[in-house]
Amino acid sequence: MHASSADRRARYGWVLLYPEEGHSNNQTQMRYQTQFLLSAVDAAHFPSPTVPEIAFLGRSNVGKSSFLNALVGEKAAKVSQTPGRTRAINFFALLDQRQQPRLLFADLPGYGYAKISKSISAGWPKFIEPYLAQRETLKLCICLVDSNVPPQQSDGQLFDWLRHAGREFVVVATKIDRLSGNERTRNLLAIRNAFDLDEVLPVSAKTGAGVKEFWNRLQAQES
Ligand code: GDP
Repeated sequence: MHASSADRRARYGWVLLYPEEGHSNNQTQMRYQTQFLLSAVDAAHFPSPTVPEIAFLGRSNVGKSSFLNALVGEKAAKVSQTPGRTRAINFFALLDQRQQPRLLFADLPGYGYAKISKSISAGWPKFIEPYLAQRETLKLCICLVDSNVPPQQSDGQLFDWLRHAGREFVVVATKIDRLSGNERTRNLLAIRNAFDLDEVLPVSAKTGAGVKEFWNRLQAQES
């Protein structure tokens, strides 16, 4: 049985750390530090489930590493791009001022080049689907889609699966800097309509657009 979203929220209160409001326009000034923890290729190696966790998912090439760079800093994110780690779940800890982990980020392998199949994890390592179904501390999934390409069936499959599993997710549209204002509006609407979403958060790792709004959106999840 899956715990309902409400159950999960009750059990795992938010301890979200986000860029200091009004502190500076410089988005690199955060109140936390990030630390690469480990790469896991099976469930036995996941970090112990203690603090709330946020998973990042998306098709290969969607811009996930670039977005994570923008969130956790290039040095931390780079580790997960080293050979052998792109098929693993890479865990990062967000540390508070006392160097205690307050939140974990889980960077999942890219998907999307496998043929459509019943399993969302076709072409994914076998432990990914159980991770999404069973990880107790998983609080929220961040699903990245490319704002420059039409809605993809593999993304729709993932969203259907997450809904079915009772997992909360937020959809982030990447590479928004490549689009003009009109294209942006049109493409974001197409994504919302195709996947029946209430909201899509536009971001650009290149310009930093939407990064602060992304943190604010996570903060809003708390309430
Ligand atoms: P991943 O496979 O999902 O980790 O994708 P990457 O982060 O490696 O990005 C894939 C490609 O998209 C690379 O060529 C990036 O330079 C490019 N890219 C990623 N994010 C952005 C963005 O915000 N704007 C633009 N213009 N290109 C981006």
